[in-house]
Amino acid sequence: MKVNEYYRASSLEDAYSKLQQSPKNVLLGGGLWLKKTAQSYDALIDLSCCELDKISETKEEVIVGSMVTQRDFENSPVVKSLFSDALAYSVREIMGVNFRNLATIGGSIMGRYPFSDVIAGLLPYDVSLEFYPKETMSLEDYLNFKGKKNSILVAVHIKKGSGKGYYKKAKTTALDFPIVNIAVSKVNNEYRIAVGARPMVGALAKEAMKYINSVSSPKKEDFEKAAELAVKELQFLDNKDSSAEYRYDLAKVYVRRGLEEVSK
Ligand SMILES: Cc1cc2nc3c(=O)[nH]c(=O)nc-3n(C[C@H](O)[C@H](O)[C@H](O)COP(=O)(O)OP(=O)(O)OC[C@H]3O[C@@H](n4cnc5c(N)ncnc54)[C@H](O)[C@@H]3O)c2cc1C
Repeated sequence: MKVNEYYRASSLEDAYSKLQQSPKNVLLGGGLWLKKTAQSYDALIDLSCCELDKISETKEEVIVGSMVTQRDFENSPVVKSLFSDALAYSVREIMGVNFRNLATIGGSIMGRYPFSDVIAGLLPYDVSLEFYPKETMSLEDYLNFKGKKNSILVAVHIKKGSGKGYYKKAKTTALDFPIVNIAVSKVNNEYRIAVGARPMVGALAKEAMKYINSVSSPKKEDFEKAAELAVKELQFLDNKDSSAEYRYDLAKVYVRRGLEEVSK
């Protein structure tokens, strides 16, 4: 990666103003993906003085600053208390601890990486993104947003609710990218199903969700049918890590297991 200038922003306003000065100026999270892509930039804009590294909560939601590291996220008692610790699970198997001490939640979301465990893990919950300049958008809308967002992710807002979550990262070896990742929730009595790394970015299986939420006391065969619907409505592709068929089969099994798990 070649960079002409390292710029430590003193405030969000300052960071945003610098970002607008050149299309080759870029915001810096943990810098791990930026470094891997090895592109060249005019300025790297460091957000570490903008007070975005805190996790807080209100009665209704948990608010995760965009500069919170994956490690702080997975260890936060507030995050752990949500949905049977499923959110912390979604980041716990990304590389090693040293890596997660650097990688940020903001950088993980803004990149919309097709393999992202952070995105797939958050998707089956009521999650919205707070940007500077002032704008709020659901995580799902951000994933469907066409084009590049030239603003700063300030925080991720996770709505509280009662219920359980399930997360599965299927991978070949401990440090690998996921072959497919599956997140299932039952919050306030509503089931939601997300599947990512297909190898496309996480998406909700809406037909399957509609079906399982219409069954009053779902049994094993209903969970099986919902899992079948989920893999049929989502697209799976081949890449060097896996065939589409293998992803399809894995996702079907883990969606069913996830539904059974959160229903208990
Ligand atoms: C070797 C390797 C293996 C990995 N394996 C996995 C894996 O198995 N599963 C997984 O889910 N992820 C994996 N990742 C991705 C990783 O978890 C992070 O998601 C990724 O590194 C981005 O986080 P970062 O903090 O390093 O962001 P950066 O690299 O600093 O930034 C990434 C992008 O986000 C933008 N950005 C950063 N912060 C903000 C902000 N506040 N507002 C707006 N834009 C912002 C940057 O400008 C840049 O475009 C891997 C990454 C690497 C390098």
